[in-house]
Amino acid sequence: MPANPETPSASASRPDSQMAISVRGLNKFYGAFHALKNIDMDVANGEIVIVCGPSGSGKSSLIRCINHLEQHNAGTIHVNGTELVARPASVIKVRRDLGMVFQNFNLFPHMTVLANCIFALRLALHMPQAESEKVARDHLEQVNVLDQAGKYPGELSGGQQQRVAIARALCLQPRIMLFDEPTSALDPESVGSVLRIMEKLAASGITMVCVTHEIGFARRVAHRCVFMERGEIVEDAPTAQFFGKPNNLRLKAFLDQVL
Ligand code: ADP
Ligand code: MG
Repeated sequence: MPANPETPSASASRPDSQMAISVRGLNKFYGAFHALKNIDMDVANGEIVIVCGPSGSGKSSLIRCINHLEQHNAGTIHVNGTELVARPASVIKVRRDLGMVFQNFNLFPHMTVLANCIFALRLALHMPQAESEKVARDHLEQVNVLDQAGKYPGELSGGQQQRVAIARALCLQPRIMLFDEPTSALDPESVGSVLRIMEKLAASGITMVCVTHEIGFARRVAHRCVFMERGEIVEDAPTAQFFGKPNNLRLKAFLDQVL
């Protein structure tokens, strides 16, 4: 007999198709190493979720599984109702909704700033050249780097490169943005410029999952915060509760260090 869908245990194990991201029972192994252990996580449309935790706790693995840069071994990932499976049609559909920004920018070094953005539009959306150039310029302007459009990434500061990376991702109009420690590789002066852009983006209503230890930023923008430890989510709470009344002892110790 099928489980009663109204029972809490049944509903807790079912993906929620209304969610932007719905992860259930996610497990990831690197060889014998168990990097993600039974992760359940939902991210609603328009929600800003911050993921933090010690180095090696699985934050990048989680983000990378969500856009299939890493393949998960068990469990399910749904993005806007589409299940992510290792088939091109599924991966392409899911990635169409996701923009990704990495710690080390990952811009194409041999292309100018403008060409980096145009390339993404031409490749992913087959947009005509003239239109793609206009879209690229508009987005570069929004992150205050249009004056750098003709330069190569290596000629820009880290903060400028990261803002280009954000513009390049936004050109494709993703419904969800994934950030993996976007300010960790930046000098202190550049951090603020990137966080201001991310804050503006958060206010635009986009869905965002962001791995970061920028606590001030998290407190200002996040609806919810998640703390990971040794491949598990050990706390997942509304932001005020997460910082004000954490349940988990390891999170308390972590916050004592970073606050
Ligand atoms: P975090 O982003 O929280 O620092 P990661 O997700 O990068 O953590 O890594 C989680 C664990 O998985 C770490 O112990 C790391 O060494 C291991 N790991 C990550 N990527 C790989 C890989 N490609 N091959 C083997 N082990 C990996
Ligand atoms: Mg990481």
